[in-house]
Amino acid sequence: MPPPPAVKGRRKSVAPPELNKGNKRLSCVIKPPDVHTKRGKFGEASRPNQKFYDMIQDFRETLEVTPLSTTDHIESQRICVCVRKRPLNKQEINKKEIDVVSVPGKGTLLVHEPKQKVDLTKYLDNQIFHFDYSFDETATNDLVYKFTAKPLVQSIFEGAMATCFAYGQTGSGKTHTMGGDFTGRQQNSAKGIYALAAHDVFTYLNHRRYANLDLSAYVSFFEIYNGKVFDLLNKKAKLRVLEDDRQQVQVVGLEEVYVSSAEEVIKMIQMGSACRTSGQTSANANSSRSHAILQIVLRRNDRATTLLGKFSLVDLAGNERGTDVSSNDRSTLVETAEINRSLLALKECIRSLGMNSDHIPFRMSTLTKVLRDSFIGEKSRTCMIAMVSPGMASCEYTMNTLRYADSVYDAMSQVAELE
Ligand code: ADP
Ligand code: MG
Repeated sequence: MPPPPAVKGRRKSVAPPELNKGNKRLSCVIKPPDVHTKRGKFGEASRPNQKFYDMIQDFRETLEVTPLSTTDHIESQRICVCVRKRPLNKQEINKKEIDVVSVPGKGTLLVHEPKQKVDLTKYLDNQIFHFDYSFDETATNDLVYKFTAKPLVQSIFEGAMATCFAYGQTGSGKTHTMGGDFTGRQQNSAKGIYALAAHDVFTYLNHRRYANLDLSAYVSFFEIYNGKVFDLLNKKAKLRVLEDDRQQVQVVGLEEVYVSSAEEVIKMIQMGSACRTSGQTSANANSSRSHAILQIVLRRNDRATTLLGKFSLVDLAGNERGTDVSSNDRSTLVETAEINRSLLALKECIRSLGMNSDHIPFRMSTLTKVLRDSFIGEKSRTCMIAMVSPGMASCEYTMNTLRYADSVYDAMSQVAELE
């Protein structure tokens, strides 16, 4: 049997060329050129794990870096899987945390996993991943938006159900990407994917190409916590999810607010985000355990306000609990089980969509139930942005996130090969 090709389907080649010699992405182990680099070659020797730091820096010197730029071509595809690495934050820099993630090419990302042999020799397990796009720590929300959610906005004017997911561990940048960056404690909502998408929705709405459709835009914003839906535009009112005999799923009583400008949407985002975090002891306490869904809905101005298209933008619950077995607090365990179930369901639904399967297992969780429309039909479009923290301390979580994204991406590569 011939060996499988190094680069399958839509996966792109990476630099340097040696990186393609491994035939399986997850088992691509490349020893650094000089394992025994002297201590302190790249800086002062006081850093914990200095040796790993030096090995990673040595490795990086061999990488040819071609970062993504705004002028790069954007492929329009049904399912898009991307990864975004955030920069090390102040605390991490103060602790001299090591950055173990490199983004050399347009869709490539490397994790330099620090390892130790039984004889205590330190080495790096360099693992390579390929996605549609990879964003390094210098990428702005604008750039990420341009390659991820922006191509989906137009699709809802053509009748699509589009979704964009932010996936990753708590603290990896999901809310920063979707809701906007923080300056101190203030969130700049105008600079998140939610607001950027809203802005483009109104650009199209006012465009003569779509004027004769006579459309209006509406917004809803809700949260799913422990399998239950709470309305963020209505004081966290608890809502029921019902499925009728035609399998149409409804969130009963969900506020859908008419909006006439991007500024109004931003107001809704601010209101909903404040509602999301209210009553919490620390900023990330509960919001990291719930999924937040902002929906921009296009309706015809007819008597029945017929639905044309819908864009769901989802800030998912932190995925780190999947590996957290230390807690035996019952409510945390229930929460964990629910998050795991919904993230697994989501993966299965996107994979089914990608493989054009007739069976979409959307009933597995509340999250996939309320997003059922997004997984069916020719016009469904999905984008997943996997967020990773760069620090060595997050390495295990980062690997989990990348494996999850990889399995979604893999389903698409298989389909691409069949075509
Ligand atoms: P999550 O929602 O995944 O838990 P956040 O979006 O709240 O994570 O990000 C955690 C912290 O990191 C925040 O202070 C945020 O401002 C910062 N951060 C995240 N991504 C970036 C980025 N790309 N650039 C700069 N700071 C970032
Ligand atoms: Mg968050």
